Amino acid sequence: MVKLTEGRGKELFRKYGVPVPTGTIVTSAEEAERSVRSGSVPLPCVIKAQVLAGGRGKGGAVRFASTPEEARAAAAAILGTSFQGETVREVLLEQKVAIARELYVSFALDRSQRLPMLMTSARGGVEIETVDDSAIDRQTIDPFPGLVAYERRKATRALGLTGTLAADLDRLLGNLYRLFDREDAELVEINPLAVVGEHLLALDAKVIIEDDASFRHPEYAEIRDDRTPLEEIAREKEIAFVQLDGNIGVIANGAGLTMATLDVLKEFGGAPGVFLDLGGTDDPKKVTEAFLLMAQAHPKAVFLNIFGGVTRCDTVANGLVAALASVPASERFPLVARIRGNNEAEGIAILRAAGVTSVPDLRSSAQAVVAAAQGGA
Ligand code: GDP
Ligand code: MN
Repeated sequence: MVKLTEGRGKELFRKYGVPVPTGTIVTSAEEAERSVRSGSVPLPCVIKAQVLAGGRGKGGAVRFASTPEEARAAAAAILGTSFQGETVREVLLEQKVAIARELYVSFALDRSQRLPMLMTSARGGVEIETVDDSAIDRQTIDPFPGLVAYERRKATRALGLTGTLAADLDRLLGNLYRLFDREDAELVEINPLAVVGEHLLALDAKVIIEDDASFRHPEYAEIRDDRTPLEEIAREKEIAFVQLDGNIGVIANGAGLTMATLDVLKEFGGAPGVFLDLGGTDDPKKVTEAFLLMAQAHPKAVFLNIFGGVTRCDTVANGLVAALASVPASERFPLVARIRGNNEAEGIAILRAAGVTSVPDLRSSAQAVVAAAQGGA
């Protein structure tokens, strides 16, 4: 998932004609002071930590300054600190504005209806989850015509805007929807959208780009930092691979069996460290690739839990045996297999020939792998 920080989101807003305050992103306290002194950020100004977590206002990560020295001190106080587990490496420096009202506007993908949805509320500035449902106006958007005039008018009425503010909102919604559509976003949120004098200004920006559209947006590639390097390789190979904190590798097939396997390991005191969902693979090469990827995560023990349906047990066994042969002796780990289902006997025979025993009972096999991981630790 590509979540943009507020500063990056606002760069997009500017590009699409969504009004934002004058401001700049800086990475040091000196730079903050310089930006104010040079006049590129007018005083008084706001200093905001560029982290993905929300609630910065309440958490002390949004500060105000009325002199260059104060701007410097505020930036120094936030940079390098940790906000909800994220290190602050950048701050956004912006002109402070006088807020008359705080509104809420967003476009999100409504997955239940499989359509974009426009949400507006006159109660902006607080987390939308805490706003009473009756105070939120929702409109489902048909993506073929896109956002149309009557939908914009309905939102304007719901927010109680008239005159220049109504005109501003009409334009802003059109531009924000265009951004949502063209950038393949799953969420664009402005909270608060501030009434400042006779005009509207986006004071915050939350933009999430849809992962499945990332192939259309190489420009976001470097921002996608929530995957580990191994997870990134796995994604390119279209292997469902997730790294966790523990030390047991899990190879299973299907989301249900994979999750159940993680649960049963936990129940016996094991800590899954990486799991791999083979899904409906019927290609021994793919199984080999997946297994080698798992080996690179250096698990203490590996639990292979397969139900042979579409993926037959012998296919998995062949892939696994091929992979085992290419894991260097120094990187070997104990392996417990439980394979049931289609071509079970063939699969077990192939594994046995390679020195791997299959334990048919789920609980016994889970206990065996937990013991192996602890023994090796
Ligand atoms: P969040 O708490 O992480 O969502 O950060 P926001 O960007 O929404 O900022 C939090 C709050 O700071 C806003 O709801 C505003 O009340 C306040 N704030 C931000 N910018 C300004 C500004 O330019 N002027 C004033 N008066 N308040 C601001
Ligand atoms: Mn906000």
